[in-house]
Amino acid sequence: MKGDSVILADQFDTIYDVVVLGFGGAGATAARFAADAGKQVLLVDAAPYGEEGGNTRYAGQAANFARDYDQMMTYYNWLTYPMTLPEDVKAAYVHGLTQNKAYFEKYLGVKPMASREIAPNSPLTARVVEYPEFPGHDTNDALSVHKGHFDAALWKILRQKVVDRADRIDVWLDSPAKKLLQAADGTVVGVTILRNGELVQVAARHGVVLTMGGFENNQDMIQTYLGEANLSPMGSLYNRGDGISMAERAGAKMWHMTNYESYSLMHGLYFAVPGAKRSHETYWEAGPEDGGVIVIGDDGTRYFNEAEVARHGHIYSHGSWRHAPLSVKPYMIFDQAQYTHFQAKPFKYIQLADLVIKADSIAALEQKLGLPQGNLTAAIDTYDRYAKAGKDEQFGRPAETMRPFGAGPYYAVLMVNTILNTQGGPARNGKAEIIGQDNQPIPHLFGAGELGGITANLYQGAGNLAECLIFGKIAGENVAKTAPLSYPTSGQHQKINDLLSGDQLGEIKLGPNEYLGQSNSGMGGKLVVKVTYIDHTIKHIEIVQQHESEDVGLVALQQLPEEMVAQNNTEVDATTGASATSHALQAAVRDAISKSQQ
Ligand SMILES: Cc1cc2nc3c(=O)[nH]c(=O)nc-3n(C[C@H](O)[C@H](O)[C@H](O)COP(=O)(O)OP(=O)(O)OC[C@H]3O[C@@H](n4cnc5c(N)ncnc54)[C@H](O)[C@@H]3O)c2cc1C
Repeated sequence: MKGDSVILADQFDTIYDVVVLGFGGAGATAARFAADAGKQVLLVDAAPYGEEGGNTRYAGQAANFARDYDQMMTYYNWLTYPMTLPEDVKAAYVHGLTQNKAYFEKYLGVKPMASREIAPNSPLTARVVEYPEFPGHDTNDALSVHKGHFDAALWKILRQKVVDRADRIDVWLDSPAKKLLQAADGTVVGVTILRNGELVQVAARHGVVLTMGGFENNQDMIQTYLGEANLSPMGSLYNRGDGISMAERAGAKMWHMTNYESYSLMHGLYFAVPGAKRSHETYWEAGPEDGGVIVIGDDGTRYFNEAEVARHGHIYSHGSWRHAPLSVKPYMIFDQAQYTHFQAKPFKYIQLADLVIKADSIAALEQKLGLPQGNLTAAIDTYDRYAKAGKDEQFGRPAETMRPFGAGPYYAVLMVNTILNTQGGPARNGKAEIIGQDNQPIPHLFGAGELGGITANLYQGAGNLAECLIFGKIAGENVAKTAPLSYPTSGQHQKINDLLSGDQLGEIKLGPNEYLGQSNSGMGGKLVVKVTYIDHTIKHIEIVQQHESEDVGLVALQQLPEEMVAQNNTEVDATTGASATSHALQAAVRDAISKSQQ
């Protein structure tokens, strides 16, 4: 096996013990455990300050655990069937799942909440076990660090563990890794990183850990591996499959490349919002309150049961769970009664009125959508017939969720197919070593997280974050145990930490009655506000520093300051879908006001 090049020690620009590429959940964990083993670590991310965190930051923040090893192994075997997964990988993961509660307490400093213990009857908890028909399922549960979801709470703890180890972990942000450097025998000796416009050669005495996430934003790879023309990402925009190309060039064997998860409405659809870079999590499938609503594919016909609770994009197909067959331009079609119902219970993040295409008749709608003549009319006629008969003979949609289409006008909304995360990448063993084409570990190369994740077939929700914690720890501990390469100097701590410098505020001038407040509870780093506060009245709020997501968090930062000033109160309603940012803003403004009283 030949690497990209052989590099002499003095050709490196800098030397660390361990280099971790990718600062999401897996990378934060691997870096932390390598540092705890006494190593000097460089943790690198392609995203700039405030946007680090990968998919982990956007996730629902739930991580699995299992009460019983044997039961979980049974369940995991069923999830994997008919594919296979090496026993050592399964054993490492399943063992990790049984330890996760203790892990949260010991390593994250929180007593976790287990969904099935704290909210056994909640509809969300009902989804905690994704395949209840599989033996062993009952042992599965999901842990979270508090009651909220989709608020980066677990991510912020993982990030803080890195900050706490600033004496042993340097962090380079906005610094994409470009290629692995190998000795002639294939041993990984370092990595080339693009930093400040220059290629920097970094030596890694003990090895490199690849935790660069998947290829959710690489449409070429999506076409090649997933066979779809275009999927809309729901998380980080920086996961571009770089880890896959780098590992491939280093001789790694790939696995699980065709596996990915989808989410949101039904089998993983979201509204096509013009100009949007990402889709968002929101739930809907047809229920007893719904009626005249169907989804059609490219030819104007229905293609699945709109009431089916999909399992991360998988729907039931002849005895197996498979990704739903996707259409390029699916439309949700509904009548006026359903539109009124949707308006009464608005979807998070979007205004349906901005997105609907409206027509007085089905035929006119069909024409507006450019569908083959007669297909939509026929699809609705057939659906109406099933609704009246109380039996959907095509897709088995339950009768109580069907009502014949009523009076117009009629509506269509263009949808996109979402991608939550990919699972494929370099294969690893139970020690988190990356495996080469010869089925042997590539010396000094480790991997964790969704880059080469272990999902060989069906995915049990909350498994990816569990994997970040479990394999991140294994990778961090094992990379630290490798025999170090001998360079003239040992791993150096350069004290270059873009996290710490990003947290620092430049000089901010404060006028009379102006106070600074800050909060770390948003989605992206520190949120800082300048508040003008006179006679117990909030006069003005200026956002001084923020790194919230531009499509969701920023909306809250634009709306809420005005509302707080108008109501002279920080406790205004959180912006829908942006609760973490809203709460961070409230906390920062409260912090500023508290200073006026000092
Ligand atoms: C909306 C959403 C909700 C989810 N909810 C859950 C959930 O509740 N539970 C669960 O278990 N899973 C969930 N998942 C899946 C889970 O979040 C991910 O699989 C997991 O976070 C992946 O972690 P990771 O550390 O492997 O990768 P990531 O967290 O994606 O981190 C990868 C990092 O690598 C960086 N990177 C990429 N290329 C380079 C490069 N060239 N150089 C340097 N850095 C690079 C990226 O910038 C990124 O920061 C969800 C996913 C999404 C999108």
